[in-house]
Amino acid sequence: MKIVTVVGARPQFIKAGTVSRELLNYPNVEEVIVHTGQHYDQNMSDIFFEEMKIPKPTYSLGIGGKSHGAMTGQMIESIEKVLVDEKPDWVLVYGDTNSTLAASLAASKLHIKVAHIEAGLRSFNMKMPEEINRILTDRVSSLLFCPTRAAIDNLESEGLSFWDGEAFLSGDVMQDGALFYKSLAIKPKNLGIEGPFILSTIHRAENTDDQSRLRSIFTALEKLALDTQVVLPLHPRTRNIIANWGINLSKNIKIIDPVGYLNMVWLIDHCKLVMTDSGGLQKEAFFFAKPCITLRDETEWVELVENKFNVLVGASSEKILTCYHNFHFSSDFKMNLYGGGHAAKNIINTLVTYEN
Ligand code: UDP
Repeated sequence: MKIVTVVGARPQFIKAGTVSRELLNYPNVEEVIVHTGQHYDQNMSDIFFEEMKIPKPTYSLGIGGKSHGAMTGQMIESIEKVLVDEKPDWVLVYGDTNSTLAASLAASKLHIKVAHIEAGLRSFNMKMPEEINRILTDRVSSLLFCPTRAAIDNLESEGLSFWDGEAFLSGDVMQDGALFYKSLAIKPKNLGIEGPFILSTIHRAENTDDQSRLRSIFTALEKLALDTQVVLPLHPRTRNIIANWGINLSKNIKIIDPVGYLNMVWLIDHCKLVMTDSGGLQKEAFFFAKPCITLRDETEWVELVENKFNVLVGASSEKILTCYHNFHFSSDFKMNLYGGGHAAKNIINTLVTYEN
């Protein structure tokens, strides 16, 4: 069996790393990796391939740094060529980026089966590019690997039984990764902080493209940083926007460049709380038994909020501070919400036994 895996952005490298490692146990499965180039910096891309020992991409398409339309269009065209040459049995896609959507469209129009990992997640906010990408990808996928029961429910309420695709509750590959990499974590060099700290990341368009939201989040972080250190590995998009808008952050916030996964796991494991608008980091906080304040108005990981491991605060500085000081988080982190670390095996077993 031949699989073409299409990745392009940081969270996809992290998920694909786990599945590719598991694939090595299946000698009859050949994996060809395509990197679209959506993320291309050394610390947003190469470091993950190196650290997680992901096989070098056979195809590097170099399509990044463009508008949504240009990027998606060029990816479809280039991925189509790869698929025509490689003739895979499956195209494997992850999550909700433009690379996910482009690969799904290119494959489905060539009648190549698409398997979507992280299917069924919804924010119900159609202004998010990620929401558009996931809905369309799910609709053309043959196998929809859902990390949670809520994701299956979302697909069923959208009419899954009338589609060609089949959904499976696989669990979450990010939990597999978190369990595997915990003992390999490395403290970032020259971090220069001791004692408790809050770990924060901010990169979602809904925050970075709205000056009042971004400023309000930073107002809260500045206030928190007067008492507790705040470490902020800064996404290049956020860094550019801060520079463009002339937002000056004080030295109390420890801004660092984006880190590799082994450093990131160390930061998550050692922080006292996570404050983020990232999708993946909300779950990693839970895997490492850390409370999470989410700087968004909605989340795809509703079970974290329902069980009080996570609280949604949006971008209001007052709300962020009130939640930080007063919210009672659950400490029952042993709850099995994401399958317990067997997702990659479940996914590959389903793929290899699936009949048309
Ligand atoms: N991450 C990382 N280094 C960083 C920031 C994040 O390795 O400097 C990891 C993080 O731990 C998670 C993934 O990147 O596994 C999340 O990616 P991101 O927040 O970019 O995307 P999202 O999950 O929101 O789609």
